[in-house]
Amino acid sequence: MQPLLSIRNITKRFARNLPPVVEDLCFEVYAGEIFALLGPSGCGKTTTLRLIAGFERANAGEICVDGQCFEGARTHLPPEARDIGIVFQEYALFPHLNVSQNVAFGLKKLPTKLRDERVMTVLEMVSMTAFKDRKPHELSGGQQQRVALARSIAPSPKLILLDEPFSNLDAGMRHSTREEIRTLLKEAGMSAVVVTHDQEEALCFADRLGVMSDGRIEQIGIPETVYHRPQTPFVADFLGATNLIDGEAEGNCAETPLGKFQIAPSARGKVLLSIRPEHLVMVQSNGTGQNNGVGEIVMRDFKGHDLTYRVRIGTRNYVVQTDYCCPLQVGAQVTLQAVEPAVVVKQEEPLP
Ligand code: ATP
Repeated sequence: MQPLLSIRNITKRFARNLPPVVEDLCFEVYAGEIFALLGPSGCGKTTTLRLIAGFERANAGEICVDGQCFEGARTHLPPEARDIGIVFQEYALFPHLNVSQNVAFGLKKLPTKLRDERVMTVLEMVSMTAFKDRKPHELSGGQQQRVALARSIAPSPKLILLDEPFSNLDAGMRHSTREEIRTLLKEAGMSAVVVTHDQEEALCFADRLGVMSDGRIEQIGIPETVYHRPQTPFVADFLGATNLIDGEAEGNCAETPLGKFQIAPSARGKVLLSIRPEHLVMVQSNGTGQNNGVGEIVMRDFKGHDLTYRVRIGTRNYVVQTDYCCPLQVGAQVTLQAVEPAVVVKQEEPLP
């Protein structure tokens, strides 16, 4: 299947004497797919989006949409010729225009009747017809974001770019708006690239995601794979809580300060392992003998639907997550066992 968007070896630097902000970036987005670029502040997400939109020129590489080169060594299509819709963090609605006029803004080339029909169609899609005469300041943040989306999809662009679209909303509104907008994009069969620094948002909003660090993508995959099979310490750590543990691997097992663990993939020699808190279980110990790996619970955080524990073993703390009814209390002596193989995120001697 041919991708709708191809980013091939894109590099962007803002000054000759400074390192690139985006370096040798490669990824693809397929028709109807929602792709998230996830990474910490300053890693180059917005710059990548601006390169796709045509607001920045790349120093090297190529950007193609639907087989057409938008950006390349000798090509730079201006933003207005790219047929791409953009939804910004701050909605960017025109304050003096009402909802219908805002949505109609990109449809000036259509005859009035067709334009009015299209405005009503997209307002229905985002459930905002009842608000069509209101000005932006008379809407909630979530409603403004739906109007911003309606405005960007009204001209039926090939691709929608969303830059931190939910970060201005409070927690409750963020959740519901995210669900609504995902449903909407899917119903409309739109392809989208969303940038976010919020790992939960990327995991539940995107079909696939690319995890960025320092201008590079460290891993691309579906949310489950990137979460459960991180390939680097950065990806493991950035996508939720994890325990990074040194080990000595031989095949599919490794010796660690917590005892012997199953690992994946197989490895040999010194390794760094990632094990998620929900993949560790605590086994109460009677505290006698020199049992390797016995530790003490030093923190118990009850959160209603689950519990987070901190267990001190030797000089280190490990995080364990249990279901809502774990009775173990601070001070209990425990050992830790893994219910899933620990994931190798770094190894000194790659297997042949
Ligand atoms: P955030 O989540 O904080 O928006 P980001 O991952 O989107 O961060 P970018 O906005 O792409 O990051 O910025 C990446 C780096 O490029 C930052 O160090 C930023 O200061 C720098 N940068 C961005 N735009 C310019 C510019 N026009 N001139 C010089 N440096 C810039």
